[in-house]
Amino acid sequence: MALPARAEVAIVGGGPVGLALAATLARAGVDVCVLEKLAARDPRARASHVHGGVLDGLAATGLSEAELASGKPSYGAKVWFDDTLASEVDTRSLPFRRPYTLALPQPDLEGLLEAHATRAGARLVRDAEVTAVDESGVVTARVGGVEERVSAGFVVGCDGPQSVVREAIGTKLWGWTQQGLALADVDVPSDLEHAHLHCGAYGVAFRIPLQRGERWVTSIDAGQDESHVVALMRDRLPLSAPAEVTFASLFRLHARWATRWRRGRAFLAGDAAHLHSPVGGHGMNTGLLDALDLGWKLVQVLRHGAPDALLDSYERTRRPQARRSVLQAWAATVAFRMQNPLLRFVRRTFAPFTPGFVDRHIAWWSVAQDIGVPGRDRARGGWCRAGGRAADPEVDGGYLLDGARALPTVLSRVAIDVPPWAVRAPLPPTEAVRTAYGDAEALLVRPDGFLAYRGPAEGVPQALSALRGGEA
Ligand SMILES: Cc1cc2nc3c(=O)[nH]c(=O)nc-3n(C[C@H](O)[C@H](O)[C@H](O)COP(=O)(O)OP(=O)(O)OC[C@H]3O[C@@H](n4cnc5c(N)ncnc54)[C@H](O)[C@@H]3O)c2cc1C
Repeated sequence: MALPARAEVAIVGGGPVGLALAATLARAGVDVCVLEKLAARDPRARASHVHGGVLDGLAATGLSEAELASGKPSYGAKVWFDDTLASEVDTRSLPFRRPYTLALPQPDLEGLLEAHATRAGARLVRDAEVTAVDESGVVTARVGGVEERVSAGFVVGCDGPQSVVREAIGTKLWGWTQQGLALADVDVPSDLEHAHLHCGAYGVAFRIPLQRGERWVTSIDAGQDESHVVALMRDRLPLSAPAEVTFASLFRLHARWATRWRRGRAFLAGDAAHLHSPVGGHGMNTGLLDALDLGWKLVQVLRHGAPDALLDSYERTRRPQARRSVLQAWAATVAFRMQNPLLRFVRRTFAPFTPGFVDRHIAWWSVAQDIGVPGRDRARGGWCRAGGRAADPEVDGGYLLDGARALPTVLSRVAIDVPPWAVRAPLPPTEAVRTAYGDAEALLVRPDGFLAYRGPAEGVPQALSALRGGEA
């Protein structure tokens, strides 16, 4: 396929993040074109799970419930420190529509997103390697060896760690990288319901349930690589069944983020903007949240007359969240991998005194991608606070509209100009609502599932206009 001469949005990179963004935009009628250098989808499993909170956001792009359920749910984790069960995280009681992570191999997710985006009208041009992006939005690419150009209103770099768009924006990935973990996906009979993390003198050894079989991840020493994973896991854990390896890789442990995410018409999202340690499986999930956030903002600007300042709020919102997520993944990596006997003794000794606190954080982190501290709003009660992920207290209720909700109890009494993606409805007076939101009178939920406002109903008009104007 040749490049179109023009597009409202050109997305560089047709990985999961670029495709999720394309689906969000195309579904709202935006003319979007995706340029992907690979001639066919990358078959490597890489990311293996999608977090429940991210699935909620993807539901807002119009993926069907059947598509969103096409993997295997996993409900938390068990953590052992030196053979002692230190923590048991069960996510089933979290107040979310999908309180689990879904085992869904990255190529399968990309297949779903690609079909969905192209059905909605996005143009995906493969074998199109972008070589330059200029300030006026002209993207130059080699398409099947021939140089072509597309002139775009906005350009989004979803082109991974070696991003060309990042270079055009003039920023770098700041941070650090280490070696030290390797993974193998093994076809073994498995009855795991959730991840098992074993931490010992060797470092760490994880077993993660996949749709079929398990992912084994473990610390390796100098001179070892992914070919040693099965033998090391058998040595470190009591595993004996025959295991056929279907995918194996070394993990580079990154903690990196771009210091700038926008310049003029160009934006960054996904691995082009941040790189995570694999612990917690946040790399792709964080990128998908970037796509969902930037997606609704571009739709508001291109289709509903919102000011350009709304697009500036993309970097202000997502960069600190991605940085926190990168650092949190790094902190978990350090805590799980430590080999020093004294530090391991401290870890083992203090673990029994923190179970509720630690488990709750791991649960929220792993399902809700809520990387802030889930804490009660002291004044009004309830777990969900503005800026964090909104709980879904009424699973069977009728208030979902394109994943965007305004759920005030008394909002109907307030005269406001509700934007097309918000809907008024009373909050049902259920126990689940009280647990999540206490006695909050009014809520405003962003289209990507984060809570923009909770408070008195009178504050909603101001919160809405701040959100739409890019101040929230
Ligand atoms: C071994 C391994 C295991 C992982 N496990 C997990 C996990 O368990 N959980 C998790 O959340 N994450 C995991 N990740 C990370 C996850 O794979 C990435 O975070 C995810 O792929 C990022 O998606 P993306 O769309 O931003 O970038 P990518 O998937 O890298 O996609 C970028 C796309 O851009 C294309 N591209 C690049 N340059 C150009 C160009 N100049 N022109 C046109 N196209 C271009 C590429 O071909 C590619 O298709 C893992 C990664 C690896 C390597």
